[in-house]
Amino acid sequence: MHIYEGKSVFNGIAIGKISVYKKGEQQVKRRKVDDAEREITRYEDAKAEAIRQLQNLYDKALREVGEANAAIFEVHQMMLEDDDYNSSIENIIRTQEINAEYAVAATADNFAQMFASMDDDYMKERAADVKDISERILAILNGGSSENAGMKEPSIIVADDLAPSETVQLDKDMVLSFVTVHGSLNSHTAILARTMAIPALVGTPIPLDESADGKIGIVDGASGRIYVDPDEETLAQMKEKKEEDLKRKELLLTLKGKENVTLDGKKVMLYANIGNIKDLATVLQNDAGGIGLFRSEFIYLEKDHYPTEEEQFQIYKQVAETMAGKRVIIRTLDIGADKQCDYFEMEHEENPALGYRAIRICLTRPEVFKTQLRALFRASAYGKIAIMYPMITSVKEVKRIQEIVALVRAELTEQGIEFGEPEQGIMIETPAAVVMSDELAKEVDFFSIGTNDLTQYTLAIDRQNTKLDEFYDSHHPAILRMISTVVENAHKAGIWAGICGELGADQTLTQEFLAMGVDELSVSPGSILPIRKIVLETNVEEYKAGR
Ligand code: PEP
Ligand code: MG
Repeated sequence: MHIYEGKSVFNGIAIGKISVYKKGEQQVKRRKVDDAEREITRYEDAKAEAIRQLQNLYDKALREVGEANAAIFEVHQMMLEDDDYNSSIENIIRTQEINAEYAVAATADNFAQMFASMDDDYMKERAADVKDISERILAILNGGSSENAGMKEPSIIVADDLAPSETVQLDKDMVLSFVTVHGSLNSHTAILARTMAIPALVGTPIPLDESADGKIGIVDGASGRIYVDPDEETLAQMKEKKEEDLKRKELLLTLKGKENVTLDGKKVMLYANIGNIKDLATVLQNDAGGIGLFRSEFIYLEKDHYPTEEEQFQIYKQVAETMAGKRVIIRTLDIGADKQCDYFEMEHEENPALGYRAIRICLTRPEVFKTQLRALFRASAYGKIAIMYPMITSVKEVKRIQEIVALVRAELTEQGIEFGEPEQGIMIETPAAVVMSDELAKEVDFFSIGTNDLTQYTLAIDRQNTKLDEFYDSHHPAILRMISTVVENAHKAGIWAGICGELGADQTLTQEFLAMGVDELSVSPGSILPIRKIVLETNVEEYKAGR
């Protein structure tokens, strides 16, 4: 048994097989072999497994995204049966007496180059496909379980680090837990783990090789530990702890359906943060009063092209309909900084967190912004959608947004397209927005405080930099004073203010937030019921008198 300690992102216990997530291309070494026929059999077996995986992917894609999009997996199966491809691999193994991995990699390179040099655009594209199928075979030959190979059973994902774009591509049903060597507590992968309510660790010095891959692992979110290949005693102890955890969760479920009201009658809205429509099931299970933050950029990150108005409209409509009249706050595109999309073709920046991101992109690329706004206005005819704009620093920006919104409304009216009137709010996540919150409050329907970025920009601490976790003091008095100021200014203007950053879920601060008059807390779905419990047990006036 080996124990590695990291920083815990979400509590709970996960027990299952460890799958080391390998990025990009497989490392291939050339190795002489004694028995070439054995290598050919290894290749044949790997090929059969690859075809089986592709069939599974085809079936899944057929169910989820339709026949046209599933067809690629059929093409890949056919490519694996191609005579030229197979003869090349067998020939290299036999004549050079080398390992199957090397023969597959060499054939992949040769064929990809050949396709890439063709005039026909269709054939050119096959270069990427031949690489893709070869990567799959290599992953199987390596006995690994790379993303390309797909996971066969729910697993603990161990990785060096995971970019948001990689995390969204993982099959969530197959993820029991995330453990990363790098990554900070405030990274988006950490946030995603909280949304999925699964135990996760970052900053864990675990080896990314066969000493962990494929072994049984236990992740204990409470102690921040991962046990690799645990002994019987540890396994039994952890199983028991997991049972207790489940019982606690069941107890919380008895709070479902209750109003979020304190002993002295103060009400608060408890909403959920999501990044994907797949999160809706946990939102409903945990009895959220609405959605306080739908990070719409994940729709962009999942694609390799700008999502069309229609694609976005369908997603927003589905969320609005599923939430059945409850408020759904959709944040407009917050791409940039750590959330990069290749097709946005953004230039390299020295300081991306202080760079071209979020509303700055939308205001300078109105065609991208308008597409999203049109989809949001149209979808709001199907439920209670609210739009929220990120990274605001000035009243001037809000005025520019209002102008674009007016254009969108006028266009839809002229085209005779049905649309609703969504509420319009902004995120308060820059110190400038806090200082200007009295003026900003006159322009919008609500505020939602993004404490993740607000802390980053106020304390001058990169939220992605794991070395700075000890300095990232989210309880810093400056942050708490800022929250209080924002709430006061919102109320003076007659609007409500909530918190949708991670601090909103900090149960040691729930009473303090109630005392400040915070109207809404938007948290990961799994945190809603524990916070409801605190709300129900709190007397705000007594708490204020005692602090
Ligand atoms: C925040 O900054 O607090 C926030 C909610 O937005 P994100 O974490 O997506 O930047
Ligand atoms: Mg933010």
